[in-house]
Amino acid sequence: MFEKLKQKLKAVKQKLTGRIQKKKEEAEPAPSKVELPPPTPAKAVGPPEHPRLTKVKRAIKKVTRRELSEADLDDILWDLHVALLESDTALPVAQKIIENVKSELVGREIGLREDTRELAEKVLKSSIERVLTPPCRVDLLECIERKKREGEPAVIVFFGINGVGKTTAIAKVARYLASKGYRPLLAAADTFRAAGIEQLEMHAAKIGVPVVKQRRGADAAAVAYDAIAHARARGFDVVLIDTAGRMQTDVDLMEEMKKIVRVAKPDLKIFVGDALTGNDAVEQALAFDRAVGIDGTILCKMDADARGGAALSISQVTGKPILMLGTGQGYEDLVEFRPELILSALFGD
Ligand code: GDP
Repeated sequence: MFEKLKQKLKAVKQKLTGRIQKKKEEAEPAPSKVELPPPTPAKAVGPPEHPRLTKVKRAIKKVTRRELSEADLDDILWDLHVALLESDTALPVAQKIIENVKSELVGREIGLREDTRELAEKVLKSSIERVLTPPCRVDLLECIERKKREGEPAVIVFFGINGVGKTTAIAKVARYLASKGYRPLLAAADTFRAAGIEQLEMHAAKIGVPVVKQRRGADAAAVAYDAIAHARARGFDVVLIDTAGRMQTDVDLMEEMKKIVRVAKPDLKIFVGDALTGNDAVEQALAFDRAVGIDGTILCKMDADARGGAALSISQVTGKPILMLGTGQGYEDLVEFRPELILSALFGD
């Protein structure tokens, strides 16, 4: 995962290690260069300290307390900025990561015993980790359990542009939930394309999960409504609603999505994005978030040669967590998202 960005971060880390090391060396006091005045006998009270000694002490204090300045880091931060942008990281997110590095390093005193390599890696890692960790938390299974206690099926709607991996992701989630002992039901509310309904049915048949559908062109919100009623009547635990996926700039599409949300009153609204599309995925996430308010993201195709920017950007830009990653075409290729997954892909050996 993210081979290119990983290599670039390695170069940034090396340069940063070198710069911190240099600072650390500058901080070593060099007593040989300093001429000390002859020692005066120690006294509990006595005349004030020799003025030259005070000066020397001050000088030593200054050198042993070297701090990293912004100027020390300028070129390295620029390298990091370029590396992030070239990896499709959204500009505000790249800026945020740079700010995080700055806030951890500028003004920091480099101790003589500091492990410079460790410090460089720690700062880079934590700066990236902070953008991967939005303030809110979403727990899919907890949500289903809560609804179960209320005697209701949990309702989850999936949004995303055609081709990103949405129907496959729905099938993966259904299979995952079935493996946890829940009874999922799918709703084919992508009524815009005939292929949309067939595609979902094909996946559903393979994983052995039922689908509620109507004809092509039917009202998508009505399909969602039917599916929820069916789930209530038949004791399903969770309804996974597929939706149409034209361009995110399509006004009719967004109106349709809003109507589905009004009617289905979902417990979770999940955006599905394609990691390969980088900044486009970020733009799509933002468009759906503005229209319907997403609760989290599933990012597909992480196994393919994604540059990594989408994964770094989406949670920071939307303020909502990445919930799961699609890591292949098989139904089992779904992993729960943890920031460490990305961090170990970027900084692991
Ligand atoms: P949809 O139009 O958004 O519903 O997209 P599909 O679910 O039909 O997926 C489009 C293509 O992407 C299919 O060929 C899927 O097999 C493939 N795909 C989906 N998820 C992943 C993934 O995580 N990794 C890889 N490599 N391919 C995926």
